[in-house]
Amino acid sequence: MHDGYHNLSIGRMSCIYCTVLRTPCVYQRQNHKLENSLVSFWRLSLGKIPIRKVFPKEVFPSETFSIHIKTILLVVLVLSLAKVTAIADTNLANAEQETLTSGAELNVAIEFKEVADGIYVRYGKHEPVSAKHIGNIANHGFIVGETGVAIVDPGGSEDVANSTLSAIAKITQLPVTHIIVTHVHADHSLGLSAYKSTRLSPKPVVLGHNNLEASLSHNLAFYAAQFGYSKHTDKILQLIKSGMIQPVDTERVFNLGSREITVKAFSTAHSTSDVVVYDNKSKTLWAGDLLFVDRIPAIDGSVLGWLAALESLAKLETKIVIPGHGRSGEYDLLMQPQLEYLNLLVSYSREAIANGLSLNTFLQKNNGVFSADKADQWELFDTQHKVNLTRAYTELEWE
Ligand SMILES: [Zn+2]
Repeated sequence: MHDGYHNLSIGRMSCIYCTVLRTPCVYQRQNHKLENSLVSFWRLSLGKIPIRKVFPKEVFPSETFSIHIKTILLVVLVLSLAKVTAIADTNLANAEQETLTSGAELNVAIEFKEVADGIYVRYGKHEPVSAKHIGNIANHGFIVGETGVAIVDPGGSEDVANSTLSAIAKITQLPVTHIIVTHVHADHSLGLSAYKSTRLSPKPVVLGHNNLEASLSHNLAFYAAQFGYSKHTDKILQLIKSGMIQPVDTERVFNLGSREITVKAFSTAHSTSDVVVYDNKSKTLWAGDLLFVDRIPAIDGSVLGWLAALESLAKLETKIVIPGHGRSGEYDLLMQPQLEYLNLLVSYSREAIANGLSLNTFLQKNNGVFSADKADQWELFDTQHKVNLTRAYTELEWE
C-alpha cells in the first residue's frame, strides 16, 4: 500500500507509514530505525516528499498535511530558540554575576611586584566595594622564605586566591605554609573559600585575629546577600567548622626559614579583627587596612582605636609599609595623610558635640569642615566620608 514511498529511491530511508504504525515494512520486510523516520519527517516538512507518495489517500486524505508538518516544525523551532535564548541569558547572567564578583574581569592576571627581597604584592583597584568590584580591590601578596611561603590576605575571591597560587608556583616550589587574613572585610577574606578544599600539602595554617571567626560568621550572610557570593561564603563557613583558622590573641611568631614573621593583633580599630604582618628580615610591614593610601580610610570599628593602633605601629622599625589599599612605600610619608584625616574627624566631631550640634546638622556641615583640597586628595571620598563622620560622631558622643 505504500509503494509510492519506495519509488522515491532513497535507499533504506524509512517508510513513515511503517514507522508510525510500528510494523515491518511490507516491501523490505524490515523494521525502520527512528533516526530514518526523523529524516523522512524532515524531508516531508521541506516538501521534498510528495504527501501522496508516502501516504495513500485512505490513510491521510488531507492534501495539506505537509503544510501542517511545516507549521508544527516552525513553531517547535521558534519555541526551541526562545528556550535556548532564555537558558543562555540565564547562564550569561549567572556567569556575569560570578565573573564580576569573582574579580576575573578585574585583570587578576596582573603581575605581582617584588617590593622587597622575597616580598610580592599585587595592588588592588580603587573601586567601591560592590557586587561588581569586590574580587581585586584590596592589596594582597606573599612572602617567600627558605622553607615555605606565607600568603598575606587571600583576596576577595577564589579567582584571586587561585591566581596568587599560580604566581607563587612560577616563583618557587616551596610549599605555602601560612595564610594570614588581615581582617574580616570581604575584599580581603573571601578568597579563603579557595582553601576550603585545597590540594596543598601539607595544608597551610590560616591565621587571623581572635575575632575573625566570629566576625566572618556574622558577616558572611550579609556578603552573600549583598554580593551574590553564597558559593564562597558556604565554603568559608565549612572551613571555619573544620578548625582550619588558628586565632591570634595578641601575637604569633613563625619562621619561613631564615625569615621570622610576626602576626600582631589589635583591639578594635579599622575593624574588630585587624592584624598586621611584620617581616623581620626586610623590615616590611603589611599593615592591612590599618593603612589606606590615596583611597579614603573606612572606619568600621573605632576611630580612637585606629589612632591608638597607629601609635603602636609607629614604634616598629619599618623600611617599607604595604597598605591594605594603595601603593607601598615609606611608612611616615604614607601614613601622614591618613593620620591627619582621622585626627580631623575626631576634632570636628568633638567640636560639634561640644556645641550641641545634632548628627544631621553635623553631616550637613560636612563640606564646610572638609575643604575641597582635602576631599580631592582621597579616592572615593564621596562614597565613604559621611559614613566616617557618622562613625566618629556616634563613637565620640559617649566619651
Ligand atoms: Zn577593610
